[in-house]
Amino acid sequence: MKTIGLLGGMSWESTLLYYKEINQAINKELSFLHSAKIVLYSVDFEEIELLQKTNKWNEAANILSLAALNIEKAGANFLLICTNTMHKVYPLIQSNINIPIIHIADATANVLQNDNISKIGLLGTSFTMKEDFYKKRLLDKYNIEVLIPNDEDINIIHKIIYEELCLGIIKTTSRNKFLKIIDKLAKAGAKAIILGCTEICTLVKDEDTNIKLYDTTKIHALEAVKMSLK
Ligand code: GLU
Repeated sequence: MKTIGLLGGMSWESTLLYYKEINQAINKELSFLHSAKIVLYSVDFEEIELLQKTNKWNEAANILSLAALNIEKAGANFLLICTNTMHKVYPLIQSNINIPIIHIADATANVLQNDNISKIGLLGTSFTMKEDFYKKRLLDKYNIEVLIPNDEDINIIHKIIYEELCLGIIKTTSRNKFLKIIDKLAKAGAKAIILGCTEICTLVKDEDTNIKLYDTTKIHALEAVKMSLK
């Protein structure tokens, strides 16, 4: 079994899900008392979020690169950055370490391609939804067209992620707002929805909607399990 590196804490609410998902899947594969070999480095998310807000992405990348180097030194064979948003600085982090990073959008795209989905709605932070680093990768590398909500809905989602989900706060009113936005994306032609923020799965579940949801937290974690056992 290879050792999985997790760069987490963004937020810890979702890192918890990665840890659990990976261990459960390893145990399902190997039985007995098997569990995953993991090196976890968890950052202080307040520091990272402040750098996001003030557009100091290179400084955030430096903090994450140092953490990633420590994960590598501690023996991880490969790395997951446990957030969609911070993949904005994935090229910088990857250039600073020697072990491969499993890109969350690549893991997700592979599943989408398997399911023959070529047009999808994306929910995430405003960075993930509006900027190119995620959508363009899906389009250029995998030919998957991405639809995003309108500006007003983007702000609603962004606020709920940072003010509620990253703090473990789950509200029915917020779930209903998400479900309305999901419906709008489906009406606009999305065949399914990417939960492109690692905390959204704590709010919106498969059973809440008829539209197929792709949970990036679970997909990313299971890809790590596959790599670990390869
Ligand atoms: N975990 C979230 C994501 O997947 C948002 C937190 C962050 O800004 O990293 O994008």
